[in-house]
Amino acid sequence: MTINQSGWRPTMGNSGDEVAEVEGATFTGNRALMLEEPLIFERGSVDVTGVDIEDAPKVASRLGGLERNRDIGLPGLSEPETVRHYTRLSRQNYAIDLGLFPLGSCTMKHNPRLNERVARMPGFADVHPLQPVDTVQGAFAVVDELADWLLKLTNMTSIAMSPKAGAHGELCGVLCIKSALEKRGDTERKIVLVPESAHGTNPATAAFAGFKVENIPATPEGRVDLEALKARLGPDVAGVMITNPNTCGLFERDMKAISDAVHDAGGYVYCDGANFNAIVGRVRPGDLGIDAMHINLHKTFSTPHGGGGPGSGPVVLSEALAPFAPLPFVTRQADGSLHLVEEETVGEDHPDSFGRMTAFHGQMGMFTRALTYILSHGADGLRQVAEDSVLNANYILRSLEDVLEAPFGPSGPCMHEAIFSDAGLAEGFSTLDIAKALIDEGFHPMTMYFPLVVHGAMLIEPTETESKGSLDQFIGALRSVAGRAKAGDETLKSAPHFAPRRRLDETQAARKPMLVWKDPVQAEAAE
Ligand SMILES: *Cc1c(COP(=O)(O)O)cnc(C)c1O
Repeated sequence: MTINQSGWRPTMGNSGDEVAEVEGATFTGNRALMLEEPLIFERGSVDVTGVDIEDAPKVASRLGGLERNRDIGLPGLSEPETVRHYTRLSRQNYAIDLGLFPLGSCTMKHNPRLNERVARMPGFADVHPLQPVDTVQGAFAVVDELADWLLKLTNMTSIAMSPKAGAHGELCGVLCIKSALEKRGDTERKIVLVPESAHGTNPATAAFAGFKVENIPATPEGRVDLEALKARLGPDVAGVMITNPNTCGLFERDMKAISDAVHDAGGYVYCDGANFNAIVGRVRPGDLGIDAMHINLHKTFSTPHGGGGPGSGPVVLSEALAPFAPLPFVTRQADGSLHLVEEETVGEDHPDSFGRMTAFHGQMGMFTRALTYILSHGADGLRQVAEDSVLNANYILRSLEDVLEAPFGPSGPCMHEAIFSDAGLAEGFSTLDIAKALIDEGFHPMTMYFPLVVHGAMLIEPTETESKGSLDQFIGALRSVAGRAKAGDETLKSAPHFAPRRRLDETQAARKPMLVWKDPVQAEAAE
């Protein structure tokens, strides 16, 4: 076991191999410019401080005996140590600014720097949600203009801008459906129908809103089975939640017929719009009879995401659901000024609102970025986004289907993501092995084991922002890895070989997560 100068031990994951046993181990545990970095508690010390501040003057406490009575226990570091700690950690991230990020269903596209520039303009960045309305007319104009674009692109009646992510938007839409049913006294409708291939947030949302979830079967071609759906509709069904294009990467061609059937049976149609990137500027969901759909600004409209970063999930609504939209929202007055409809101002305008979803008005910084993206692309540019994203995904599908099984490949082109299964890999080899080997190739793995309807699914979404050169490199890497998995190359099973951590025990990590750092000296003393 190597212990470096500052006394911390590089850990090499839980694969059991300690540093000295790893071939080519170094004294520091670093591998060339890939630097090991301990926790800040291991790096710093509670006895050290990086700043020189005078003791606070003694003042009478007004905390009523609740003041801290022991040391806070935070590690102190000098400024250079602090800078290095966080810089080293930041280098351990994979990011869209480093390379292709093929996570399906996530639309990890380039975030144009123009968006960032505009979002940082003081007039946008420094407004406060509690400022008087007449001082933030410009910010409201951004919200209003973005809302207008989203309504035009979807051909819907009304929009709720405040939901803060896709899942939050789903909740907004489903609560509108619930309110609409309550308003007409239709309280026996307890079932929401969801395809088996749905993103986990769809059934979770329906259940959270108090509905029971039932699955809609799929056809062998990977689409909703219209006849089976029709057969299930009835007076107990509140509505359906359908993703279009769906999570198998296919357009639901029967969407209009599905909506008509659901409406005829008295239900509502929620569309999960996370895959809007594939159809923006080409298909208007309002034309397909949809009642509510969220739009992930952080997917289709390029606002940054990943790492749990801020999302934004505006929800477009049909005429039937518009009266139930949440507060607050921006409206334009007869004199052209913009006004915020809040609880206090709602009056007779909007008495059926189901309530409020967020403290303020939504993700202002994301609105600014998304509108910048939309305006800089224009209508023709947005259409090209959809076309190029579909082209790139089909290039991947057709370049790999001879080495990886593409379950829906034979039934035609895909939309903006390509899906493969683990059928055809050598006995004992799995999707996980392929994903881990891609890390060695310098790529973030694709989405794996989702959707559940495809065995060992690999869902790849390149997005339109990748060049042919970068797609070719990714295809080359995946062809190589798939070839090794088909040939039964055992080294694949212990990949990644070149990453700072080897293959982790993910079950152990999920079941027994270590969430609190314990000082090893104290922990030992306590035993
Ligand atoms: C991303 C996604 C969601 C959830 O959106 P969040 O913004 O992550 O909450 C829902 N459905 C599908 C199909 C998605 O891809």
